[in-house]
Amino acid sequence: LKGEVMTMTVTGKVYLVGAGPGDPELLTVRAYNLLRRADLVLHDDLNPPAILALAGPQAVVENVGKRCGKKGVAQEEINARMIEAARRGQEVVRLKSGDPGIFGRLAEEIDALEAAGIPYEVVPGITAGIAAAAAIGASLTDRRKTSRVILVSGHRATKGEPREKTNWKALAAEDATLVIYMPGSNFAGLRDELLAAGLDPGTPAVLVSRAATLQQQHGSTTLGALDQLLPLESPAILLIGRSLAGAHRRLSAELLALALDDAGAIVSPL
Ligand code: SAH
Repeated sequence: LKGEVMTMTVTGKVYLVGAGPGDPELLTVRAYNLLRRADLVLHDDLNPPAILALAGPQAVVENVGKRCGKKGVAQEEINARMIEAARRGQEVVRLKSGDPGIFGRLAEEIDALEAAGIPYEVVPGITAGIAAAAAIGASLTDRRKTSRVILVSGHRATKGEPREKTNWKALAAEDATLVIYMPGSNFAGLRDELLAAGLDPGTPAVLVSRAATLQQQHGSTTLGALDQLLPLESPAILLIGRSLAGAHRRLSAELLALALDDAGAIVSPL
């Protein structure tokens, strides 16, 4: 290969990491290890300080979430930032709340990384719906009452965009547990849609706010009375289905004793 210039390219790697619902103890060991050694951590708004504090002293930690600054960071800018850092040989942790593949724009980021030829790895995390079910002692697939779980975004329905509206008719079924991410606050509208789709008004519904954090709260009702449900602090997730019957009652008597360390991390788990 006389005459040709040999170039050594050092390429880093991008890890698309799920941070779980907020409690640092619900991180995977892999997520923890990657955070410890990352050169750059690009995180969303929902990641709490106690998790970000786990990044090593060498790490640059940046918020690229929607609520960061006035407009937030555009998806293209996040992609460009990841790619540029990896091309400089850095190990990048793209930290997303819950699981990166559940309403987390994972596919768009993978497309961008593949187009740029950047190596990447996806590290799963505990998604909010699963954390919320655990928080209220519910089994989403309680075989005595249900046979499937549907993870759905309620966002579009509350935005009132007719063409993109969630097709509740296709989703509502007595044997399904609905796990509604970004449920919005138009519970009356959602109730009407699900009743029109044929669901029983007595179907249990539980709104879980800030699952797996110290601020965790929940409100329980039935589908027929969903409009009476008080919206809770964001982020909140709405679970609807027969599998939720009585679940929250098993926990409501218990006072969750929690302790915080100086950094605000949860010392005794929920
Ligand atoms: N990738 C995330 C979801 C991102 S979409 C995951 O897998 O969990 C953001 C939505 O997730 C919020 O609107 C809310 O519905 C839900 N969510 C995220 N964290 C939550 C938490 N700790 N408690 C309740 N809902 C949460």
